[in-house]
Order: sequence, then C-alpha cells, then structure tokens
Amino acid sequence: MNKVDLLITNAKSIATMNDSREVILDNGWLAVQDGLIVQIGTGSTGQPEAITVVDATGCLLTPGLVNSHQHLYQNLTRSMKPNGVTGLTEWFWTYFPMWKELDEEAIRTSVRLGLFELALSGCTTATDHEYIHPFPYLMDAVIEEAAEVGMRLMAVRGSMTLGPELGGVCLPGMAEDEEDVISDSIRLIKKWHDPKPSAMVQIALGPSNLMSSTKTVFTRSAEIAKEYGVRLHTHIADDPDETEYVLEHFGKTPLEVLESLGWFTEATWCAHVVYPSEAEMQRLAAAGVSVAHCPSATVIDGGLPGGPTPVRDLLNAGVNVGIGCDGATAGDHQSMWMETKTALLLSRLREGTVQAMTAMDALWLATRGSAKAIGREGNIGQLSIGANADIAIWKMDGIQYAGSLVDDVTALLQGGPAQVWSSWVGGAPLVREGKLVGINVEEEVSRHTKSARRLQSFSQ
Ligand SMILES: [Zn+2]
Repeated sequence: MNKVDLLITNAKSIATMNDSREVILDNGWLAVQDGLIVQIGTGSTGQPEAITVVDATGCLLTPGLVNSHQHLYQNLTRSMKPNGVTGLTEWFWTYFPMWKELDEEAIRTSVRLGLFELALSGCTTATDHEYIHPFPYLMDAVIEEAAEVGMRLMAVRGSMTLGPELGGVCLPGMAEDEEDVISDSIRLIKKWHDPKPSAMVQIALGPSNLMSSTKTVFTRSAEIAKEYGVRLHTHIADDPDETEYVLEHFGKTPLEVLESLGWFTEATWCAHVVYPSEAEMQRLAAAGVSVAHCPSATVIDGGLPGGPTPVRDLLNAGVNVGIGCDGATAGDHQSMWMETKTALLLSRLREGTVQAMTAMDALWLATRGSAKAIGREGNIGQLSIGANADIAIWKMDGIQYAGSLVDDVTALLQGGPAQVWSSWVGGAPLVREGKLVGINVEEEVSRHTKSARRLQSFSQ
C-alpha cells in the first residue's frame, strides 16, 4: 500500500467540529494525502504508513481556526492610543493621517507580521479587508505575501469612495474614484479568485462602511458579486457614531440601509453587528447573511454602549456567526485563540449565564461559523474526510493545563494562555513545534518596526 503524505497519531483528543461536534478520544489519528484529510480513526489498528509521522501524544487536534474579519495593515499602529480615543469617528481621525501614508513596503511587512501572529494562534485561514488604497495593486501585494507565508486567504477588496466633500468620513485624497474601485475589483476577481474547494485565495468585495462609501459602490458591488460568484463584506451596526450618521443621512438604521442596497443575500457577511433589532436579526437569518463577531474590538476602547455583539440572540435567531480579530488598532492583538476565548467570556458576561456560550460553541464559531461566513463551508473549519488538511495541534500537557483530564476543548478556551504547537494548511506545515516554518522572526519584526516608525511619524 502506498504511503500517505502525513499521519498525525496518538492524539489525546480530536475535536473534529463535524456536524455532530464529535470529539475522538484515546489515541486518535488522522491521515493526509494531496492536501486533504483522507482517514480519521482511533486506536492502533488501521493506521496507514506515512512519509511524515507526527506524534501528538498529550495533544488536542482541532481544525485550523478561521479568521473572518481583519485589516492586517493596522498592526503598524498598534496600541498607540489605548485610552484616548472615544467613538468611531474620532478613531478614524486619529489613524487616517497615518494610514493615508501606507506604501507597498508597509503593506507587505504588515501582512507578513499579521499572518505570523495569526498562525501562532492556531489560525490557518485569514481574511484581510483592505479599504485604504494609497497605491495601485495593493491587493496583489497582500495576496503575494499570503501565498509566500502559506496562509489560506480571503482577500477583501475594500474601498472608500465617499470623500469629505460629499460628507464622507475620510480625509481629502483618501477616497477612490468609484470607477477605479469597480475595475480593480473585476481585475482582481479574474486574476486571483479561485472557486475550487482547495482554493488558497478567494476575492470578496468590501466597501468600508456607510460613512465612507457611496451607495452606488454598494449596489454595483452586489451586482458584480452575483455575476462572478464572489462574496460581499462590510462593517455595519458597529458604533453609535455610525447609527447617528446613517439615521441623519438615510433616515433608516444601518442594517435597513444595507438591506435596501441589495446586500441581504447569502453571499454577504458583515463585521460587528453590535446593534441589530429583533426584527433585523430575523431578516438577517432569513436572508442567510453571516456575522463576523470581533469581541475585543467591541470593548477595548472602553466598551461600546449596549455592546458587545448579542451573539446568543443572533444564533438563536438562526444567524450564522464567525469570529474575527479585527485590525490590531481596534483589538490590538491578532490571536484567534484569544478572540475565541474572549467571545466565550463576553457572551457569558452579556447574558449572565454559562449557557450563553460553551467552549465547544466558541470553537464552533471560530471554525465552522467563520468558514461558512467566508463561503468555505465543508472544505475548511472541520476535520472530516475530504476537507482540506488545515489542522492545528495544541499541546495540552503543559503547566497551564495540568489537572485538566476530562475536556480538552474547555481547557483550551477557559484556560491558557495558548499558542499552537504545530499546524498545517492543505497539508503543508505552517507552524512546527511552536515555531513558524522557515521564518526569521527577528528580521521580520525589525523590518516591520521600520515601517511602523515611518507611519507613526505622521501621527497628529
Ligand atoms: Zn474592521
């Protein structure tokens, strides 16, 4: 019999995140061939011979975590104003003067650093929503870096098209011409979007929000998405400033406006959704719109009134919810493990009961929920036969988990801190025994610091 490419064996437990949330205990094993999971089993019998064998004694296997919302460039201005900024508009005015100066080197190094941090937190698929384009072909640079790092990517061609002269919330010179956005979107889809289940890159269209994007860029993006079979992404219902602006300019709530623009479709996933009404939750569910919940971003600057996102209510209404880190200027870290844990804690705090979110629920959001949100349901976010071999191994025999013998998923997310021990994307190693494969971290951080210094010199 031919050898398979990879066999991970002797696992303490495997959280498959299949439809029945099955957890395999006692010497679980998993085989990979040609980038796909081809066999899963338990015990010593039936294991195939393999070219590479990884001993996962004392470890928990999960699907690689899936990040459904982020802006990777924001790690260049991380933690700059931890206590000084209140409200979304002031936040924009604080950071726009710096982000306006993004150059290609800044984008390339920040994408790399962001992906490294995500990888070490167990993430194997990233979403990057780039809505500021100070130079042409910015998304191409993002995609090239992600391919080089080896991370699966949902590349969201974001945009701002509503300049300050038209009442938009951005600085002079930052808004793009709508025609340029549309033609670049179509170019990117044709060049990079891979519809196959094994795709390493897919493209989505993402006007930033209703305060800085024209109505027509929303409607035209929806038309293009339908024509080319790509997805739609934006920020919505995420801050009182936005609600006030949208009520004043449109006479409706942000979600009502989004619905009127043709965005309530199964192809849409929205970041935040902190303020949905009961009726809006029902309509989101009926339309098949997903939500990317970014827990840290909703509390880190002092907490949003009425927040965080009502995840339990959304789930009960039938809305699919995934997890996202958001940018490192909103959430400061880029750890999917930490965001998953924070989602668990905030849901329990919000609802006042443990039942609001179990550890398994939280892991579901970070795997199956996020995969569905970005349109990859079935091929990532689960360890099942035929799925892409995007796998995270967590070492559960360290000090922080000593005494935890029963439930590794609960230990992973209620305990910690955790960093992934090893991970693979489509069967290719991303992290090996705690280290990024083939990456000189010191050099990468030093390169990134140069760009961060340059950008932060534009702080006002
Ligand atoms: Zn965001």
